[in-house]
Amino acid sequence: MHNTPRVVVVGAGAFGGWTALYLLRHGARVTLIDAWGPGNSRASSGGETRIIRGGYGADQPYTRMAARALELWSDHERLWGRRLLCRIGVLWMAYGDDSFERGSLSELRAAGVRYEELSCRELRQRWSQINFDGVEWGIYESGSGYLTARTACQAVVEGFIAEGGEYRQVAVSSTGLDSTDWRSLRLSDESNVKADKFVFACGPWLGKLFPQTIGDRISVTKQDMFFFGTPCGDRRYDESELPVWADHSGRFYYGIPANLGRGFKITDDARGPIFDPTWGERVISRELLQSVREYMAFRFPGMANAPLVETRVCQYENSPDTHFIVDRHPARADVWLLGGGSGHGFKHGPALGEMVAGWIVHDKDADPLFRLSRFRAQS
Ligand SMILES: Cc1cc2nc3c(=O)[nH]c(=O)nc-3n(C[C@H](O)[C@H](O)[C@H](O)COP(=O)(O)OP(=O)(O)OC[C@H]3O[C@@H](n4cnc5c(N)ncnc54)[C@H](O)[C@@H]3O)c2cc1C
Repeated sequence: MHNTPRVVVVGAGAFGGWTALYLLRHGARVTLIDAWGPGNSRASSGGETRIIRGGYGADQPYTRMAARALELWSDHERLWGRRLLCRIGVLWMAYGDDSFERGSLSELRAAGVRYEELSCRELRQRWSQINFDGVEWGIYESGSGYLTARTACQAVVEGFIAEGGEYRQVAVSSTGLDSTDWRSLRLSDESNVKADKFVFACGPWLGKLFPQTIGDRISVTKQDMFFFGTPCGDRRYDESELPVWADHSGRFYYGIPANLGRGFKITDDARGPIFDPTWGERVISRELLQSVREYMAFRFPGMANAPLVETRVCQYENSPDTHFIVDRHPARADVWLLGGGSGHGFKHGPALGEMVAGWIVHDKDADPLFRLSRFRAQS
């Protein structure tokens, strides 16, 4: 038993929760800590839903990771008897510079993600509620779709506890974390916690906890989500008749059809203003609302006069190159930093957790793509 490493994971979002679960499965004794709880309203993993898709353009590791994540989300849905993965399909609309979609095709094929390439005529036949003006062709990922967000994070923590993990809802003091001389973490309930290894998966807070090592290498931006009410008795804009969709030309609008009693979700992927995840007031921008409405009226004409029924403000925690950050602290081999989801991290939670837990337990280095040294090489 004394050879069993003791690991503390700080942050029970998509990255920390899954990593803690897989650390446990690799034989570690694990304590998972979160200040406000898994998928809380301030966390980047909060809210109702997230997209899971394999399309990522060419030459990247994420299609493969998404394919593995699809398997793992399915496995855990069965294991826990909870609805986590809704395979309603993902539709990519391609036109103009379609290098992203073209580049995605071979990656989808290589990773075994199910998809169809559709002509504009086929698109119009399948989804008459979408105005495909300007669209030249599309990719339909039939086995992809959306994930539950907050409830999935809660399910992960419940599964973690059921498998023998310890979960504590307390905050970790950030004072001095970036130095080399601490041996235990100070917690908001005045206790301390010791471990052989520490993992900080603190999403948009990671730069504040590690101001020298991370600092503004993770920029936190305000992202507004809009939910519109679908027409009364009309199911054309809910998940029974419409897939998740992405219009990736010029501006990147994407959305999830009405589901789980919520409205038709739509947003613009453009990075918003810098945002404070602890103190920021979560009020949407009227200008963005206007541009989203105009786009929706054009692409989904039946939703032209739909009322706004809900809004949500979340934040992206962006790394400079949008790749994840997974590495040891440069001055502390026992401290791992995990973050930089950059607006696309949620879906990868189980695949990332599985991979990173192996590196941590077996004392391996992270994949160079995710290491901090890539930034030092640039500066
Ligand atoms: C609007 C929006 C839409 C998105 N859409 C998608 C999508 O469609 N598909 C997709 O795959 N991804 C999407 N993403 C990205 C994805 O949601 C994030 O990359 C991912 O959830 C990040 O998870 P995380 O665990 O790193 O961070 P978080 O979920 O923020 O978790 C960090 C946790 O750390 C805790 N914490 C912080 N400081 C402390 C402390 N001092 N002590 C204790 N606990 C602490 C917090 O309470 C929090 O729970 C989206 C993000 C946003 C905001």
